[in-house]
Amino acid sequence: MSSVTSYICPTCGANLPSEEGLAGHTANAHRAERGVYTCPKCGAKFGELIALKRHAAQAHGG
Ligand SMILES: [Zn+2]
Ligand SMILES: [Zn+2]
Repeated sequence: MSSVTSYICPTCGANLPSEEGLAGHTANAHRAERGVYTCPKCGAKFGELIALKRHAAQAHGG
């Protein structure tokens, strides 16, 4: 058995060497984005769904 402990990100499966590394990864890659909406076409983020819809209509023609 390996004595190497690895920390697997439950969100994306990334393998981190330490608990701190996992915490940092989670904070950077998966920080709590409560209420954040991401445009599926360009990745722009908005704090409100209405803002995303408005952006989609203006930038991507709906
Ligand atoms: Zn991850
Ligand atoms: Zn967009």
